[in-house]
Order: sequence, then structure tokens, then C-alpha cells
Amino acid sequence: MKPLNELIRANVLRMEPYSSARDDYKGKTASVFLDANENPFNSPINRYPDPRQSELKAALCQIKKVQPEQLFLGNGSDEAIDLMYRAFCEPRMDNVVAIAPTYGMYEVCAEMNDVAYRKVMLAEGFTLSAEKLLAATDQKTKLIWICSPNNPTGNDFGVSEIEKVIKKFQGLVIVDEAYIDFANRQSLIHRLEEFPNLVVLQTFSKAWGCAAIRLGMAFASPEIIGVMNKIKYPYNVNLLTQQEALRILERHYEVERWVENLIEERARLIQEMKALPLTVKIYHTDANFFLVKVTDAVAIYNYLVNEGIIVRNRHSVALCGNCLRITVGKRVENERLIEALKQWNTASK
Ligand SMILES: *Cc1c(COP(=O)(O)O)cnc(C)c1O
Repeated sequence: MKPLNELIRANVLRMEPYSSARDDYKGKTASVFLDANENPFNSPINRYPDPRQSELKAALCQIKKVQPEQLFLGNGSDEAIDLMYRAFCEPRMDNVVAIAPTYGMYEVCAEMNDVAYRKVMLAEGFTLSAEKLLAATDQKTKLIWICSPNNPTGNDFGVSEIEKVIKKFQGLVIVDEAYIDFANRQSLIHRLEEFPNLVVLQTFSKAWGCAAIRLGMAFASPEIIGVMNKIKYPYNVNLLTQQEALRILERHYEVERWVENLIEERARLIQEMKALPLTVKIYHTDANFFLVKVTDAVAIYNYLVNEGIIVRNRHSVALCGNCLRITVGKRVENERLIEALKQWNTASK
């Protein structure tokens, strides 16, 4: 890995972060707050939230077995994705490399930040080639994006191929583990010490059942996390989100039950889908969704919408022609999908 100071944008390296009112009196206890121009009425939401999210990070770090200095919390993973560009990529000069097809936000944020986005198509069976990814990099490549388990394909690439990329690349490798709870491998967050150029993204939006609160996590070296904290909006995670996240952390056994249920339901749903004449191929999945190639994705998608059932049409995505991405729902929801698809077969004859 190059020295981090060579990867950070010069303006980011130079700048002083915003110092909030609550930053100045660190450590001391106080009960009269006349420092932040808040309204003394309307407690508790009259006060600015903790910009460091200390209580939430302490609870989360116990579960994740990392240090608070290795954890960034953002307004969804999407904030962390954007911050990686803003911290490390010089607009119109630097570039990033990413697998394709993959999660759309990496490219949207690249465009927003005017950073060249180089796509490397996955191979047959949506497999990852470390060699091909690395071959697409040059001296101006700051980041490599790997989503695993990947969206929309559903498959996990396995640690050994991802490791090759991390070990050989001189810039930062971001591994998006949004769906790791549904996969059959250990998270890479346990190997941050071994890989100083690794950034792992996780989210409260999927297995944790908290998409509405907008809370994403980035795990990396204290140096990388320090850069992200330096440039984030001071109060990027609001009070209600911090409180609700603490509540779900206390009920993490329930999350484990949801995950078990969804993995079981996934197997059942896939088996039923396989028996349908409209199914051409179901791709292997390690996530809470699967990609299915059907006889006519656009027609089937529109038919399902009419039935009040929404799946994701991925027909226009590279390598995903005639594919639908289907999220695993509750048993009754999955049953309704299957019943509707059975009707399609009789209707289309
Ligand atoms: C759903 C998803 C996320 C979650 O993003 P949030 O902003 O945390 O809701 C991140 N990455 C991938 C690949 C996803 O599919």
C-alpha cells in the first residue's frame, strides 16, 4: 500500500475539520448547556446529537469485536461510499475500478464527484478475477470496489480471490458486506490489522431490519477512519437513529432469528421457483435475494406489478438480460409471488 498521505486528497490533508460546540469541553461532565444556540425547551430532541456517536459505537464494537477507532458511522452506507471519493479521489485526475454488474451507488457517487469509473465485467457465473481487476488499475487508481455478496448477482466471491486484490493493490480496497449476515463466510472486519488498505462496509438496512433509520458502518484502520470522520458532516447520524440502533443492538438475538428464517425461506422459494416453466436459470445466492433468468423479464415484471407484487427488473443491466432480482420476504409474501407466477404460466398459454 502507498503511504496513506499520498492517497488522501491534498485539500483534505490540509483542511481543519469543523469544530462543534460539543467538541470543546471533552470529558468533563456538565448540566448547563449554553454553548450551541439550542432551544432549552422540547427535550430531548432540542439538543444536537453526539457527533462521535460514542455510546452507540461502544455497544456496536462489543458485538463486532473491533475498536471504536476502526469504526465510522454514516447516514447509510451510501454516506461512506460518497466520503471515500471525497477523501481520496481528485476530481478529473484520479480513477476507481469496480466490478460490473454491481451496486449502483459506486458509479453514481463517482459521477457526482467527477471521478473516472472503470468497470471490469464479472466472468462466466459472475465470478471475480483478481487479475482482471488489478489489470484495470494504474498509478491514478485510488479505490477498488468489491461488493460481496454482490448485488444484483447474489453470489459471494470468497475470501481468497478478494485477498489477492487487497494484497497486490497499492490503493484502498472497499469490500461492501451489506449482505454478509446471509453468507457462509467470516466478515473481513476481523482482518483489518493484517490489511491496512482494506475498508469494509456493512449496514443496518438489510439483516438488521432498519433501512428506515439510515445507518451504515465502515470498518478500517484508525488512520482511514480518522480521515472519514474529519470530513463528515458533524451531526451526520441523528439522535433518533442512534437511539433506535441501540435498541436493535439489545435485541440482536432477534436479528439472528430473522436471518435464520430468511435463509430457510430463501431455499424454499428457490425450490418453488425452479419448478416454474417461466424460470430459465436461478443463480447461486449468498444474500437475502436471488437473481433469476426468466423467459420474458419485462412482461413478467409488468404482470407482477399489476398483481400488486414488486420485484426488481434487472433486464437492462449488463450480463443480466431477462433477469429479475427477487428479495426473500415473509412466507405469505413469497407464497403470493409463487401463486401469481403459476397463474402467469396458464395465462400465457
Ligand atoms: C442495500 C445495500 C447497501 C445499503 O445501503 P444503505 O445506504 O446502508 O441503506 C449497501 N451496499 C449494497 C451493495 C446494498 O445492496
